[in-house]
Amino acid sequence: MLRRTALASLAAFAFLGSRSARADENATENPTVALTFDDGPHPELTPRLLDILEREQISATFFVIGSCAAHRPDIVRRAFDAGHEIGNHTWSHPVLTRVSLAQAAEEISRTDALLKDLTGSIPNTLRPPYGAMNNNLSELTLPRPLMLWDVDTLDWKTRNTLAVERAATESDGGIVLFHDIHPTTVEAIPAIIRNFKSRGYHFVTISSYVTWEVTDPSWLDRA
Ligand code: ZN
Repeated sequence: MLRRTALASLAAFAFLGSRSARADENATENPTVALTFDDGPHPELTPRLLDILEREQISATFFVIGSCAAHRPDIVRRAFDAGHEIGNHTWSHPVLTRVSLAQAAEEISRTDALLKDLTGSIPNTLRPPYGAMNNNLSELTLPRPLMLWDVDTLDWKTRNTLAVERAATESDGGIVLFHDIHPTTVEAIPAIIRNFKSRGYHFVTISSYVTWEVTDPSWLDRA
């Protein structure tokens, strides 16, 4: 499956002022990092990653694909029960800007419905596959902005533990993008956590950087 395209350059938009001014102000004195993992849950790698996060006692964010979550609901529940944040990454990972708005709405709302079943609430973060977005999509997902990243580790491309480690640790934190479907990514995580800890970073979930929440219960009916 095509994982990422030139559309990833849209990450430069990162995103629409969604990071709070407070987070930026605190960046120097109280630096934070949100480790975010897309495209799971993976039957073996995600549990292995959850073991690492548990051992390190940190929280992360998982942007799960709905169809994968439907096959592994136990892993999503485990992540949620452990205090991790679960975000919507669509049902089947299409380029949302290349499908109809009705299809895009279905991709999002179907995943919302499943995650609400599994966790008790609709995710208040949504990350479009490949970072692909446009104004129509932004309107579609209101009141929940699309959530990109500050740091792209390119783990899907390098598939190299040291390269992933370097991409993450040479950054100033913020929202860091990984994919928990590559063994090389999961292998890099312990060293990345140690690095950020040694630099005094606090580990947060992605909602720490945003100020909205889903309050419109009619959202699920919109598709
Ligand atoms: Zn993805």
